[in-house]
Parts: sequence; structure tokens; C-alpha cells
Amino acid sequence: MAALDVSGLHKTYGDTEVVAGLSFTVEPGTCFGLLGPNGAGKTTTLRLCLGLTAPASGSITLGGHVIPADAQAARAKVGVVPQFDNLDPDFTCAENLLVFGRYFGLKDADIRPRIPQLLEFASLAGKADARIATLSGGMKRRLTLARALVANPDIIFLDEPTTGLDPQARHLIWERLKKLKSAGKTLILTTHFMDEAERLCDRLIVIDHGRKIAEGSPRELIATHIEPQVIEVFDESCGQLPDFTENHRHLADRVEQSGETAFFYCRDPQPLLTALADADGLRYVHRASNLEDVFIKLTGRELRD
Ligand code: ADP
Repeated sequence: MAALDVSGLHKTYGDTEVVAGLSFTVEPGTCFGLLGPNGAGKTTTLRLCLGLTAPASGSITLGGHVIPADAQAARAKVGVVPQFDNLDPDFTCAENLLVFGRYFGLKDADIRPRIPQLLEFASLAGKADARIATLSGGMKRRLTLARALVANPDIIFLDEPTTGLDPQARHLIWERLKKLKSAGKTLILTTHFMDEAERLCDRLIVIDHGRKIAEGSPRELIATHIEPQVIEVFDESCGQLPDFTENHRHLADRVEQSGETAFFYCRDPQPLLTALADADGLRYVHRASNLEDVFIKLTGRELRD
């Protein structure tokens, strides 16, 4: 049985179809990514899957429960890490876990023995009695993750779990999420960080304007949608990039210009690297293509607010 199955999902706000016929399936024990630019419909889709808002049409089954009809039973099996931490500032770390467990109908006698291991998992072992205001952003995120685990759910929804964190704090979250996956949990994740999706997700979908525009593993998506190598070329100071790009466009399979940088996507980078060796005043980075290149190709470079 799939952990989550979504079929033909539609949601409209006013005249706008925010989710426009979305279908996907999440297998148990995997990490599934929901990617898309701002306003693509990711948060709405998560809310629909949790039964927090009703669809115009379509079907959702979460943990074997039909949503929204049976949402309450489904939510008892599901952990949620929301986009913004909503820990209770009046309580300590341990108290936050206890109070949250009560929302799930758990007895204090069942929650209390779990608190040390939840804090340990969150690398907050010494912080049981610390007030929320004294925690760093990374600590708050980890406590929110621990809180989502209080009822030992099989499925965990994470809405941008590392937004606003520094690199060290992000790596710690990633490590914990991998541990959860190794323990057989299903993770359903939205993120703006393509490196995060590439690292964590077994499969993902890219959505835009409420529609699925790509689906696969990160590797499959890179192999299907993009040339394998990129050379990013930028001007050091002398303004030679436009001429260089025009004269060497034929050495790449595809060229994209974004601000001060030209992206040369290639199957064979050697001819362009040779040309760049003689090009004074230009700097470049040669790298393998990644999920961000796929994302930009599919959704464009213009800003979404
Ligand atoms: P994402 O999470 O991908 O940034 P959202 O699902 O938050 O996208 O939003 C998708 C679109 O739906 C946006 O245009 C947003 O303004 C609109 N929207 C979201 N929630 C509501 C709401 N409660 N009422 C009206 N419009 C909404």
C-alpha cells in the first residue's frame, strides 16, 4: 500500500486553479520531494493531503485513510514539521514535547519516557529544561522535528525544513532525516534547495501553476532533462562576455544567459575549455549538471514572488 496516493487533485481559490489535476504516489519508506517556484501550489498540496483544506475534486489516500473524510485518523499516524516553527514560547523543550503528545491523545506516562530519546535524536540532550527563547534557529527546527515524532508516526511531512538555517544546522537536519528514512519512515518534503532535494529525495515531482511538469529520481531528471556538464562563464571586469558567448555558442549544446553569467551546457566540454584557456578577462566554473539546472530549465529564470 502506498503511503500517500493522490489522483486528479484540483483546488481553486476564487478564479484561480491553484492545484490543477495533480497525481502522484509515495511509496512507504522513501523520501518524496515536492518542488516548485513560489506560488506553484506546494503548501496547498500538503494542506490538501493532510485534510486541512478540501479539494474541489480528486482523491487522496494517506496511510490507508481517505482524505478528507478520514483525515483525523490519518493525522494521528502522521508527523508534520511546518514551515514556520510554532513551538510554545512559554514552555521548556521537554514541556513542548509533552503538551504536543497530549494533542495526539497520548498519556503523560507514555510520553515522558520518550522525551529523553526524542531530545537525544534532536541533539538537544542537555536542553530538556531550556526555554524556547534561549534556543538557536537550528535547535528550534530540531525540536520541531522531534515534536513531529512524539506519536511515533510512519509518515512525516516537512515543509521547507531547513529554510533560514546555516550550513552546519542544515547538515544536521539532513543527517537526522536520513536516519528516519533508514528506520523505515516515509518523508514528504517541500524545499527550495535543490541540493537538499538531490541529497534526500528518492523521487520528486516538480510542479508549476498547480501542474506536475516533471517526475523521477534526481538522477533520472538530470539525465532526461539536461546536458551532463555545465561551464559557467563570467566577466572579471572587461565586458568581454557578450562577444565570447556569441563567438563560442556553437561549442555548447545550449547556452543560457542570466545576469552576468553565461551557462554553457555541454556533452563534450573540452573545446570550450580550450577556448577559455586563451580568454583573458573571463573566469569560469566547470561542473556536473545538477538538479538546480533542471529546475531552472523547467521553470525559467524569472523571479516569482
Ligand atoms: P507554494 O507553497 O508553492 O509557494 P502555495 O500553495 O502557498 O504555493 O500557493 C499557491 C497559490 O495559491 C498562490 O498564488 C497563493 O497566493 C494562493 N493561495 C494559497 N492559499 C490561499 C488562500 N487561503 N486563499 C487564496 N489564495 C491562496
